[in-house]
Amino acid sequence: MSKIRVMDEILANKIAAGEVVERCASVVKELVENSIDANGKEIKIELKEAGTSLIKVTDDGTGMDKEDAVVAFSRHATSKIMDESDLYNINTLGFRGEALASIASVSNVLLKTSTGEVGTLVNIKGGKLIKVENTDARKGTVIEVSELFYNTPARLKHMKSLYTELASITDYVNKIALSHPEIRFTLINNNNVILKTDGSGNLLKTISAIYGVDIARKMLEINGEDDDYSINGFISLPEINRAGRNHMVTLVNGRVVRNQELNKIINDSYHSYKPDNRYPIVVISIELDPSLVDVNIHPTKMDIKFSKLEELLELVKKTITSKLNRQTLIPEASITDFPIVEEVQEPILKENTIIENKPKYEEITLDFNVQEEPVIYEKKEEKEEERLPLLYPVGLVHGTYIVCQNEIGMYLIDQHAAKERINYEMFKEKLTNPTKENIPMLLPLTIELSNNEYIVLKENFAFLENMGFEISEFGINSVIIKAHPTWLTKDFEDLQIRKILELVSSKEKDFDLAKFNDHLAATLACKASIKANTNLSINEMEALISDLRKCHNPFNCPHGRPTIITFTKYDLEKLFKRSGFESLK
Ligand code: ZN
Ligand code: ZN
Repeated sequence: MSKIRVMDEILANKIAAGEVVERCASVVKELVENSIDANGKEIKIELKEAGTSLIKVTDDGTGMDKEDAVVAFSRHATSKIMDESDLYNINTLGFRGEALASIASVSNVLLKTSTGEVGTLVNIKGGKLIKVENTDARKGTVIEVSELFYNTPARLKHMKSLYTELASITDYVNKIALSHPEIRFTLINNNNVILKTDGSGNLLKTISAIYGVDIARKMLEINGEDDDYSINGFISLPEINRAGRNHMVTLVNGRVVRNQELNKIINDSYHSYKPDNRYPIVVISIELDPSLVDVNIHPTKMDIKFSKLEELLELVKKTITSKLNRQTLIPEASITDFPIVEEVQEPILKENTIIENKPKYEEITLDFNVQEEPVIYEKKEEKEEERLPLLYPVGLVHGTYIVCQNEIGMYLIDQHAAKERINYEMFKEKLTNPTKENIPMLLPLTIELSNNEYIVLKENFAFLENMGFEISEFGINSVIIKAHPTWLTKDFEDLQIRKILELVSSKEKDFDLAKFNDHLAATLACKASIKANTNLSINEMEALISDLRKCHNPFNCPHGRPTIITFTKYDLEKLFKRSGFESLK
């Protein structure tokens, strides 16, 4: 019986107003997904000129018999959707009934397919059947799309540069490879291998094939579950981050989806571990009952809506933060031989990196088989451990960096960033749990404001009093402060009071208290921190390190800059070209 059914007309119409084959990447997507649906275990994508002159996809899937091979190009053929309800089920990859027909109408398509018995060759150009004949019987399908848009010059003109086309194809293939680590993918352009995965089913190996072994080594495995969701995957150490959001990949039941809230919570989970406007590399796979999602059914979109979104976000955040909170996150001073490539926003690879991006997993010395137990979250608080190693200060460089050592290596601490972190956590704690405890000011402080600042500030007197301020009106657009919270930094009181009033008077109506406190704490912390060119004594350094050790996150200032970096003994030996026998001297 024929595997491909002809969808009934209503269903066909329901499929959004036309699957549009717009670019090379959309052709690649259709062909690759067909190969996946045909159970291909090895899928090879070969391009010439970024697909503009040839896109060839070869798989070892089930293949088609002659009848199916011809029907496949008819308008509403599909093997994927059997009835209307399937449309809402995320377990089906999508529907591409119209796609092959659309592709064949604007290009020259050569299809060779076989179920293992007789092979069939079909050639269609500009939508016209040129020939159908028997051919050799290698099981699987090879499809070649050439002369794309030859008969639609407007579309052809619409195509972006070769680089952009290639970047978006690469981006797509990367993501489909991440969602199918069990399939062996090869992507080649003009005989250059861009991606090669091993199909072993090991996600970390796929990550390694895409990003290289150095990044893979800095990925942390995560696992978490609750009643409705189970999540697992890999997240990068905070020191590995990128300018664009494109490297946060979320899979839902094996399918790459886009969800802004998910991306936001992932990034928020790294807050203060890295700058907020840099994004981690993350591959998170979410498993759930399909009834909990609404997929936007337009076939070219990957948007998704979760019916228990808050719960999912909470689980994602907990899983990521609890992982980060248990790590020692001291970046090694980058003496490594690979450059940190600053990337442009969307296209994920630079032209030159594409050529160099050879598969790297053979050289890997990583243990890919570590399996983490899923963390099941209960209400109890996790006990925090001190994550900073013991450090012995040696001296100060440029009045800025504290040099420390221990048996593992040498460390540099940025004293401003470290003190900023200590202050920040202290201020945040005080702001989150206000006590109204205050100290009277020797000289009451009067502050003049602009009329609109004054209006907002007056509305917030209770807010400030709750913090510990004694504040009242003092003439036109002025306030007088007679007492301030106990936790202001000595000698910085005036400065900090002004900063607090400034932030409070620019408060929005429906502000988020936690975020406001966080911002306020970070601002005050910077103001109160040690300036560069302040010479600390060894005792002061020891005190600073011991305070830093007590922090929840001792590794970053509130803005996400590192407080500490290290040169391991090994790094030092490498830098001084000492090795083996030499290092014993
Ligand atoms: Zn600062
Ligand atoms: Zn900072």
